[in-house]
Amino acid sequence: RLHLDRCQQLDSRLNAIITLSAETALAQAEAADARRAAGQAGPLTGIPLLHKDIFCTQGVRTSCGSRMLDNFVAPYDATVVRRLQDAGMVMLGKTNMDEFAMGSSNETSYYGPVTNPWRAQTVPGGSSGGSAAAVAARLAAAATGTDTGGSIRQPAALCGITGIKPTYGRVSRYGMIAFASSLDQAGPMTRTAEDAALLLSAMSGFDPLDSTSIERDSEDYSAQLGDSLEGLTLGLPKEFFGAGLHPDVAAAIETAAAELEKLGARLKEITLPNSSLGIPAYYVVAPAEASSNLARFDGVRYGYRCADPADLQDLYCRSRSEGFGREVKRRIMIGTYALSSGYYDAYYLKAQQVRRLIRDDFQRAFEAVDVILGPTTPAPAFGLNEKTADPVSMYLNDIYTVTANLAGLPAMSLPAGFSGELPIGMHLIGNYFSEGRLLNVAHRYQ
Ligand code: GLN
Repeated sequence: RLHLDRCQQLDSRLNAIITLSAETALAQAEAADARRAAGQAGPLTGIPLLHKDIFCTQGVRTSCGSRMLDNFVAPYDATVVRRLQDAGMVMLGKTNMDEFAMGSSNETSYYGPVTNPWRAQTVPGGSSGGSAAAVAARLAAAATGTDTGGSIRQPAALCGITGIKPTYGRVSRYGMIAFASSLDQAGPMTRTAEDAALLLSAMSGFDPLDSTSIERDSEDYSAQLGDSLEGLTLGLPKEFFGAGLHPDVAAAIETAAAELEKLGARLKEITLPNSSLGIPAYYVVAPAEASSNLARFDGVRYGYRCADPADLQDLYCRSRSEGFGREVKRRIMIGTYALSSGYYDAYYLKAQQVRRLIRDDFQRAFEAVDVILGPTTPAPAFGLNEKTADPVSMYLNDIYTVTANLAGLPAMSLPAGFSGELPIGMHLIGNYFSEGRLLNVAHRYQ
């Protein structure tokens, strides 16, 4: 109740929540109390949680930040939603996000932008900006996010919280509205690595309902916290510290690295020579997959339908024109172009080849180091409307994060100092299934 009240009081300023589901929350809280009384409570029982509005929730609207799904109530729960509910967590509501998770500032949402709790008129990052702002402002103890090119880590960095994107396939995508299926991964957004470990243990593990889910049981990530960093090698890619990096961010990450060295880790400069190809490859692959995934929103089965269509063609055309926002339409156009015959080889296939090179870079690096360390974003949070007119400058915000998605690697962001009153995020990338190790490094640092 305390958290629901806080959501109601503070959200007029933050706009972090699209739907508050007070009734469901109170019922779940009662169930959690009963569980506790029966001596069956786990560590997450009764803990208040917000879900990014990309996860289907039975009986509670799932808008995906879009007019297209403004009226959509899913008939089932996403696996992530179900598992966290089974762990006893209490869902307070659904968080604001960039439309269909396309954006780095939360400004593409049909429900308006979210404010960064650290400074007014400043973006929280995106696309999981509502989740990040809500956790930073203590509206809930934790929130879920999804990360296709940085959407958990970038807003976590800009809002001063902790967020982890697991290995591709570690967490089920069932019931999570698809943006770019080969890149999308869900993960927790919390205050600390300790909290993230608890949530990730509950979220991860094989799910027969997702064909890309990996057949591997969940792990007790909390049990892996507290290991010494002695003997661990951290790699600092020289490409992550080049031109374009804000001096405050560079200084904060260098200080954090020195701190980790004091804790026993060894630092080593490495190179990821193809990392500059990450953004161009990502902005071919992601829109291509999006254009295909978003074809289902046709105004026929569910979602927005235009008024008085003249015929089927008009129904498709106007429902999609009116239901989707500008950024989503831009991505559909880019993606459709990249996949069209004659251009497929030049763009999509090429991007897939680049993707392999990026993966190979990481594999080579992981022969010499255990974890890669760098900044999550090139700069602290930027102003509202500062980058909306220039998509490329917006896309460049993801320069350090997209490569982990292209390679399918686990990666996380955690708070590492400030630039003025704005938080700075430290980025850790690990080899496949090394979530436990990443969380441990973060935990030791915190
Ligand atoms: N900002 C990136 C984009 O706009 C990443 C989004 C995401 O990870 N969902 O595509």
